[in-house]
Amino acid sequence: MTTLFVSDLHLEPERPDISCQFMDFLSGEAREAETLYVLGDLFEAWIGDDDPEPDRHRIMRAVHDLSDSGVACFFMAGNRDFLTGDVFRARTGFKILQDPTVVDLYGERVLLSHGDSLCTDDVQYQRFRRMVRDPLWQQNFLGQSIEHRSAMVSQARDASRAHTAGKSAEIMDVNKGAADIAMRAHRVGILVHGHTHRPAVHSFVLDGRPATRIVLGDWYEQGSMLRWRTGQEYELVSLPR
Ligand code: MN
Repeated sequence: MTTLFVSDLHLEPERPDISCQFMDFLSGEAREAETLYVLGDLFEAWIGDDDPEPDRHRIMRAVHDLSDSGVACFFMAGNRDFLTGDVFRARTGFKILQDPTVVDLYGERVLLSHGDSLCTDDVQYQRFRRMVRDPLWQQNFLGQSIEHRSAMVSQARDASRAHTAGKSAEIMDVNKGAADIAMRAHRVGILVHGHTHRPAVHSFVLDGRPATRIVLGDWYEQGSMLRWRTGQEYELVSLPR
């Protein structure tokens, strides 16, 4: 029995190499798995389920093929694709998870999150996050034309690039205290998240017990995946392109 975790693929039509590797992954190793978790930022941007862009539809169909083949496929939205809705769910066959969610992995309680909510040192980003997660803001945004939404998103991306260029790496990383609080609140010894693009397995002691924070990597230059087999046997691997 194997469960696979990926995040931060940032799929976009301009990067067919990433889409191609992900499609190969879906029809390859993922088929042998029991469960697949995608923990956010599957897409570089998602401006609404009504976006007709064909690459997105090809990917949604490929995920649906995988879930049809009997693999349980779960999706938790990231900061790039939190506007995925009911149509996305129906077209992919994904079961949608709230952020955060506790799952039972072969007897071990594991907390799953995209990770951006844990980057509490970045006050400016958290303010932006609260704004765009507001249902009224989303309703307003989704009411605009595709062209307008698309222009707004590229504008926001440029602004975000300008901001992050001036921010220290520490500010944009997960705040250790915020991760501890989340793990304590959910009574877990293991947290799995993405978002920061710093793949690592961090082992530490929390309240006198061994604790682990596993960070999934992004797919910009190569794939990244957490492979978890029955029991507590897991490995964070990179997938060469
Ligand atoms: Mn992210």
